[in-house]
Amino acid sequence: MHRSPATESSSETRNARGEWRPPYPIRYAPVFAWPVKIGAILKWLFKFPGFLWPLNLLLLLISAASWQFTQPDIARCVHFEAGWIAQIYARNLVMMWLFYGGYHLYLYTLRREGTNRKYDPNWPAKKSRLFLFGDQVYDNIFWTSGVALLVWTGYEVVTVWLYANHRIPWLAWSQHPGWFVAWFFVIPFWREFHFYWVHRLIHWKPLYKHVHYLHHKNLNPNPWSGMAMHPVETIIYLSVVLIHWVVPSHPFHFLFDLQHAALGPASGHHGFEGPIANGKWPTGSYFHYLHHRYFECNYGESTIPLDKWFGTFRDGLPDGEGAKLAGEHKD
Ligand SMILES: [Zn+2]
Ligand SMILES: [Zn+2]
Repeated sequence: MHRSPATESSSETRNARGEWRPPYPIRYAPVFAWPVKIGAILKWLFKFPGFLWPLNLLLLLISAASWQFTQPDIARCVHFEAGWIAQIYARNLVMMWLFYGGYHLYLYTLRREGTNRKYDPNWPAKKSRLFLFGDQVYDNIFWTSGVALLVWTGYEVVTVWLYANHRIPWLAWSQHPGWFVAWFFVIPFWREFHFYWVHRLIHWKPLYKHVHYLHHKNLNPNPWSGMAMHPVETIIYLSVVLIHWVVPSHPFHFLFDLQHAALGPASGHHGFEGPIANGKWPTGSYFHYLHHRYFECNYGESTIPLDKWFGTFRDGLPDGEGAKLAGEHKD
């Protein structure tokens, strides 16, 4: 997403409800623009912040480090055994708390940015009957770190077992180095494509009512809202990795895909627009915030213009165009 270059400075960046918004409407990445603008695409690929850096490369580095230092040897994974399964669970638990907990600590516990460039000026709900334990953050931690973590680990354990037993196709670097590298570029696009369609699916009334409503309790999201989902939704959301059961890939591609999906929502939900940390860390998703705010728009993200093509795009321009406000949402 194209982000505002300046820190919050004028009252124009907040609407009547006090919500922060970028000074210009959100726009899509230039990849699918016509006519093709090679210069703009290259700039988007390599600039900071851009496609590669920081988010995708950071997640790739995290996956590489976890593969190198914490992945159980594939030969051990031929049989389901407590040892390697516990190792994967513990690794994922630590990663989740570093990533989600890190954003929470910085932005919500220490409040290092105050409410500067915070989309919703309010802090997470306390003493609210809407949430488990009467507390939005505790509720979110329960669903994210308690439940979603189990689904994440479940996908990983089963898929690693399938790789170890050669029940799914395996792509080696020596076989097809070109394909091997291409996977890393394909995965973020595949994730966004898959997310758009499964997200449309769970907005289908019966699924919304029994499953997706839980995530949408978070009108004002925080990092831990990222994976605060009904377990059925987590299973659907993380089914993005089932592609590796069919299309030849290396277990490392699978790991990157899964960790991208499991860790990405922290930065997509923390409720602030980068840059934060004195302008050094561009992060946040106003695009997805608008989905939490208005529900029936922006089901995908801002790289592939699926919302635009299917008429569900909302660019964040001031209210008043008859858009349905979250408070008026009926499921
Ligand atoms: Zn969300
Ligand atoms: Zn939704």
